[in-house]
Amino acid sequence: MPIRILPPILANQIAAGEVVERPSSVVKELVENSLDAGADRIEVDIDKGGAKLIRIRDNGCGVVKDELVLALSRHATSKVATLDDLEGINSLGFRGEALASISSVSRLTLTSRTAEQSEAWQAEAQGREMSVTVKPAAHPVGTTVEVVDLFFNTPARRKFMRSEKTEFAHIDELVRRIALSRFDVTLILRHNGKVVRQYKSANTVQEQERRLAAVCGTPFMHHALAVSSEHSDVRLWGWLATPAGARPQNDLQYTYVNGRMMRDKLINHAIRQAYDELLPAGSFAAYVLYIELDPRQVDVNVHPAKHEVRFHQARLIHDFIFQALFSALHEAAKADDSMAEP
Ligand code: ADP
Ligand code: MG
Repeated sequence: MPIRILPPILANQIAAGEVVERPSSVVKELVENSLDAGADRIEVDIDKGGAKLIRIRDNGCGVVKDELVLALSRHATSKVATLDDLEGINSLGFRGEALASISSVSRLTLTSRTAEQSEAWQAEAQGREMSVTVKPAAHPVGTTVEVVDLFFNTPARRKFMRSEKTEFAHIDELVRRIALSRFDVTLILRHNGKVVRQYKSANTVQEQERRLAAVCGTPFMHHALAVSSEHSDVRLWGWLATPAGARPQNDLQYTYVNGRMMRDKLINHAIRQAYDELLPAGSFAAYVLYIELDPRQVDVNVHPAKHEVRFHQARLIHDFIFQALFSALHEAAKADDSMAEP
């Protein structure tokens, strides 16, 4: 075959292969866009586990009419302009690929209105060239992205979708993770028209702990230790269960780096080491932990789905996490022992 440039839809579908694994990945990308747009209220509507419909509605800044076409184009982003921006990223998104990728494997509409505009506009990309049509619509300030018939044109992907129940469980878990990443944002999740989760914006410590309990359950709260520690501009805070709150599964392990959900080997290793022989064999630690540091000290551009990060000072971060958690756990154990004494 001769070398040729891929038609836009195919290029976008290839990119979608990396980030759009299943309905919950679509929800992740879209909710992150809403958070980047400054929304403090996000509604997630799902029909049939997301196979039929995924609709995310926010009250963020919106997209101006003239930029709707760009928003749906690949490599188009308002979040980074230079290499310098990329090295100190503050937003959740930066690749400029999500909307283009998702719209190449579904029927996607983007409806939006900015505060300066008196009317809303709706954009949709179609065909081999993914040419975008824009028409007037009704919408308050903010954005709604509707994704209908996910993977309708990529049978191989569609085949990998699981049952409605399983796909929705992934979405539910994702929304719980997001709820813990931004206490200040109201999040509503509906499935087939019914409200499944409703997290009202939580601003006081009591409200935050109520949300924590709603997401993690009361058994976790019973054993949760609040931690807060700082070392050379790196901050670690959150909650971890004492060994008595260990679980039979690793289903309650949430870590965030600068507000981004992570499954990071280095962080997990530091946490495991802090618990070490305190945990009964075959049981798992439970925790919700936040690490905050200068975005220039961490590289998030490691993996398209952004699950992993690379810390510039990996050793220092590892040892700091280990130390902070180790002392919290051991102090709690000591306090317990002295209480047990007659
Ligand atoms: P990225 O998030 O990496 O920039 P996306 O393809 O997800 O790429 O989005 C492209 C652009 O569309 C964003 O940079 C942003 O300017 C705009 N956009 C997407 N979703 C929203 C939203 N919910 N509200 C406001 N702007 C949005
Ligand atoms: Mg994005």
